[in-house]
Amino acid sequence: MRYDSININRKKSLVRSNELDMIAREDMKHMSKVRIGCSEFSNSLYVNTKNKILKELNATEDDWVNPKWQMKNRITTVDEISKYTNLTEEEYENIRIVSKEYRCAITPYYFSLIDFNNPDCPIKLQSFPNILELDEGGQLDPMNEEQSNPSGKITRRYPNKLIINVTNACPMFCRHCQRRRLIGKHDRNSSKEEIDESIEFIKNNETIREVLITGGDALLLSNDKLEEIFEKVSQIGHVDVIRVGTRTLATLPFRIDEELAGLLRKYRVQLSTQFNHACEITPEAVKAIDILVDHGIPVRNQMVLLRNVNDDKYCIQKTNEELHKYRVINYYLFHPKEVKGINHFQVDISKGLEIMKHLEGRTSGMCKPTYVFNAPGGLGKVPLVPMENIERQEDGYKLTTWENKTIFYDFK
Ligand SMILES: *Cc1c(COP(=O)(O)O)cnc(C)c1O
Ligand code: SF4
Repeated sequence: MRYDSININRKKSLVRSNELDMIAREDMKHMSKVRIGCSEFSNSLYVNTKNKILKELNATEDDWVNPKWQMKNRITTVDEISKYTNLTEEEYENIRIVSKEYRCAITPYYFSLIDFNNPDCPIKLQSFPNILELDEGGQLDPMNEEQSNPSGKITRRYPNKLIINVTNACPMFCRHCQRRRLIGKHDRNSSKEEIDESIEFIKNNETIREVLITGGDALLLSNDKLEEIFEKVSQIGHVDVIRVGTRTLATLPFRIDEELAGLLRKYRVQLSTQFNHACEITPEAVKAIDILVDHGIPVRNQMVLLRNVNDDKYCIQKTNEELHKYRVINYYLFHPKEVKGINHFQVDISKGLEIMKHLEGRTSGMCKPTYVFNAPGGLGKVPLVPMENIERQEDGYKLTTWENKTIFYDFK
């Protein structure tokens, strides 16, 4: 009798297990089509273009892994681009016109990840000037950053945390950058006076417990300059946490070395970065992540949802799983804002919600970031959550599970 019921349960569990296998296999089938950075295919593209660039610039492997060399040899003009790939007359003209309006800069490293046979290559879409950028729709400053600036280079929208913008420079100018009005015509680090004024403001506001050092890309500052800021901020008694924002892990991974990691470790600095597609997670990027995580520095990803780049549930699942594999925390998925010059990256919110619904239960909870939208007017981030998950009813709640099974539950 007892053995029978064990047998029945075992049988039922096996049926369920097979059912789950089918779902997992279906996901795996789709995810196998997503290009990942740690693959032979990606590596062959990389080595091929890298060798072309090294030859053209008469440079060495040592130069290549030197972040200063990478910065100095950024690809910024259509003529430089056309040295490494054939552009049609129209493409040439479009890139030329657009890069006059919005600067172009691509590190040789990032450029080498492009798959030139794929017109929708996510690396190319994020880095090549596109004629659609000249579309007039969208606002310049929808988040009203200009009116969230109480002092120096501070952006404050929350009770106990704020941002100091330490530079407007970035290794690569992302075509989808929501702060592109600040990228301007020239790179400019904030002056010592502006930074000191910002730090003074924090000193005088004991409500501030967390300081985000960002830009631009905060890691374009030298280690000395960074240490000066960390030192001053960490001496403020009421500041508990320093966080740095950088996209170098994706655009200039050679910037991350033992010395920098030691510096971040010394001041217990935490780090936020931005990977938007699995093909950006290359062995070079993984090396940078490993150095940081091995030094005990938490690394969080803040992905941006971008049309054609990653607005696909399997692409995002795969990317987040790759990040999870390498110990990066999937922190945010940003819904893109309507900023002038980036409207061609806009995604419908229903798409984002569908992606979030897909991630529920289909994969590790660690692969499910919080999907957020930065409210207009500088009012802060609003989490966007699939609406059907929980619904108030007369005598309880209707809950919808990851498989869209509904149950009624009266929380006592
Ligand atoms: C996003 C943001 C922060 C940090 O918010 P978290 O949710 O803690 O990551 C702080 N200040 C401003 C102005 C921000 O936009
Ligand atoms: S790294 Fe960030 S700030 Fe710099 S261009 Fe890209 S999205 Fe904009």
